[in-house]
Amino acid sequence: MLLITNGTVIDPKSRLHARKDILVSDGRIVRIAGRIFDAGSPAASAAAGLTVIDAEGCIVAPGLIDTHSHFRDPGFPEKEDITTGSAAAAKGGYTTVVMMANTKPPIDSVEVLTDVCERGRREPIHVLSAANVSTRMQGEARTDFVSLSAAGAVVFTDDGRPLTDEYLLLQALKLAKKLDKPVSLHEEDPRYVTEPGINAGGRAAAALGLTGADRKAESFLVERDVRLAIEAKAKLCIQHISSKEGVELVRQARKVSPLIHAEATPQHFTLTEDAVIQKGTLAKVNPPLRLKEDRMAIIEGLRDGTIDIIATDHAPHTKAEKAQEFTKAPSGMIGLETALSLGIRELVQPGYLTMDQLLACLTCNPADFYRLDAGDLHEGGLADIVIFDLEKTWTVTEHFASRSSNSPFIGETLPGVVRYTIADGRIAYQA
Ligand SMILES: [Zn+2]
Ligand SMILES: [Zn+2]
Repeated sequence: MLLITNGTVIDPKSRLHARKDILVSDGRIVRIAGRIFDAGSPAASAAAGLTVIDAEGCIVAPGLIDTHSHFRDPGFPEKEDITTGSAAAAKGGYTTVVMMANTKPPIDSVEVLTDVCERGRREPIHVLSAANVSTRMQGEARTDFVSLSAAGAVVFTDDGRPLTDEYLLLQALKLAKKLDKPVSLHEEDPRYVTEPGINAGGRAAAALGLTGADRKAESFLVERDVRLAIEAKAKLCIQHISSKEGVELVRQARKVSPLIHAEATPQHFTLTEDAVIQKGTLAKVNPPLRLKEDRMAIIEGLRDGTIDIIATDHAPHTKAEKAQEFTKAPSGMIGLETALSLGIRELVQPGYLTMDQLLACLTCNPADFYRLDAGDLHEGGLADIVIFDLEKTWTVTEHFASRSSNSPFIGETLPGVVRYTIADGRIAYQA
């Protein structure tokens, strides 16, 4: 048995925010109460093998959920694998991760999906997987949604490659609707992307002498895809939204269909294209970091509920790959170990979101949308818990639990230190 005592428990789903103790047994929460045991009491002594975590000064919350992580497994073990990705997640406070499917081979068959899910089950946190919308991610033939769904696919996505075939996508949305699974989409129309990973028409593109990725690449596809999702009555997630136009399209679409959601990444609510000038390829991400007005529109979207999921788009790459010149380097940055701290610094400390709202975007909101048995704290529920110290800070160094270190935040001191990550009642990470 495990007792977490003296902490401030925040459970956004039940709107609990109070000083409580939590008692865990056999992987489940058995009690949440003001004071479960008094030290040295007969009841405490009777609880054989009781492990006590003193969470004085800490927040105790549901384990975080990341519904957009690239663990590069199978295919790119030099960047990350399921084990190192899970370690990075646990260190960041995450107890559930949904892996993206742009691996090598991609997760377009039951065989590959079953392999990654089986290996995921051996990790100390819950590792789930997406499956592809199209075979070989070529955007031409749909994968076998029925079999992949039965084999455990949480969501269908070709993330990394936009789907340009409108007919294929509409059929995919209709079938996903029947299976009650969401589709999530990387929204960049390639016709408006000259060089990926840099905002077209801005200071960074001018400094590097590049044309870049136009904001229309995102807004045109978001406009098309919310229309298709409304027609199919399907659950749609717009991935890593980057433009103010994209946010506004989602805001209007949600008035018609609450099944449409969007995710914001920490990099898009924290950084602008200026980061590309300062950090070079470490700030190269798809879709690109844009202007202050785009960043503020994403924050306003989070504030008014247009965007209710924060996802990392954790995208590891090796040092050698990122050391190439800008147009040759791959896009993406790691994010699992810095996401909570960036949320605190960029959203909570300036007063845009309350801590409870931030945690909702990291726990119960993604759990509800993806129908995961996670994301809240209740008696009888799984003991997936994060304990973090809001008052302490830490300095980001190259020493990540991830196998990669492609983060533009190295050297920064961030608020919020994860002290324990507990999954299924077992300690998956301890500071
Ligand atoms: Zn993407
Ligand atoms: Zn991604």
